[in-house]
Amino acid sequence: MSKRDYYDTLGVNRDASDDDIKKAYRKLAMKHHPDRNPDSKEAEDKFKEVKEAYEILSDGQKRAAYDQFGHAGVDPNAAGARGGQGFGDFADAFSDIFGDIFGGRGGGGRSNVYRGADLRYNMEISLEEAARGCEKQIRIPSHENCDVCHGSGAKPGTQPKTCPTCGGHGQVRVSQGFFSIQQTCPTCHGSGKQITDPCHKCHGAGQVKTHKTLNVKIPPGVDEGDRIRLSGEGEAGQNGGPAGDLYVVTHIKAHPVFQRDGMDLHCEMPISFATAALGGEVEIPTLDGLAKVKIAAETQSGRQYRLRGKGIKSVRGSDYGDLLCHVVVETPINLTERQKELLREFEAISQGDTAMHNPRAKSFMDKLKDFFG
Ligand SMILES: [Zn+2]
Ligand SMILES: [Zn+2]
Repeated sequence: MSKRDYYDTLGVNRDASDDDIKKAYRKLAMKHHPDRNPDSKEAEDKFKEVKEAYEILSDGQKRAAYDQFGHAGVDPNAAGARGGQGFGDFADAFSDIFGDIFGGRGGGGRSNVYRGADLRYNMEISLEEAARGCEKQIRIPSHENCDVCHGSGAKPGTQPKTCPTCGGHGQVRVSQGFFSIQQTCPTCHGSGKQITDPCHKCHGAGQVKTHKTLNVKIPPGVDEGDRIRLSGEGEAGQNGGPAGDLYVVTHIKAHPVFQRDGMDLHCEMPISFATAALGGEVEIPTLDGLAKVKIAAETQSGRQYRLRGKGIKSVRGSDYGDLLCHVVVETPINLTERQKELLREFEAISQGDTAMHNPRAKSFMDKLKDFFG
């Protein structure tokens, strides 16, 4: 039987960090956990698949072996791995997940306590804002305790009752063959309470949808697709679990003058043909105002001038990229009679020795000569 790629199984890139792998695993393990999918063979298989992928990719040595040799490089049933079918296996994985998050409270605790989902917010910013950094306000949907019932979900003046099925534990024990496993209570879905008289505003949820405004600090140097994490600003957790994180992903708008390439910037630098021939000085825009560039005599189109340190600051360090100006020699337009006259005169006195004044044309003619013999 051919196996699925471990990275695909976890839905992460091959260069994913340990942290990303752990996160992907947590998400999938919770989704396919047998407690949440009772009697689903498919979920059980998925759960095992995910767990196996995590066991390999979370171990530096095994991951390296897998990267190099694929499935042949790692045998999850070999020493160290917990194979087998028993539910003990699930419990182990489960306490792995929650032991991690709640500092060891998992395993025997309430398995219906979930961390909220991470959320993503796409933010468009200008190149200038990305280069200098900025502070932005964003408005995102959120949940907040209902002000009528103060979060209880019960109509004011009434109290939620203890769930009769689980006696308030949120979990019930179910026997399956020789095993007895804990499952989330089907009546109260883990809250341990039952609301007989729901609040009219939140209909028993205890929370209402609202919006919150957050300040986001964008550090100087961010690039397309960079992520800024706002810890705990994601979706609220369930039954007292911690909130997820909010990731603000930056998208840089196209700039009319500059193209960005990592920390470097590129721009076109149009110069007149006279300046190109005689040399001179031109002013060009940079992110911090105008800068002067000395143009050498006999400059051709396509030549690059590098302005050191006029690029974008590194988002992590303190160094700056460069600004690369690409020369474009312009053909003059809208000429007056006098200008045309001078150009005709120029052309006439250059007639005898065109090759000397036009290096490209000369090399072009030379190639043609070679070609025709
Ligand atoms: Zn309410
Ligand atoms: Zn219950």
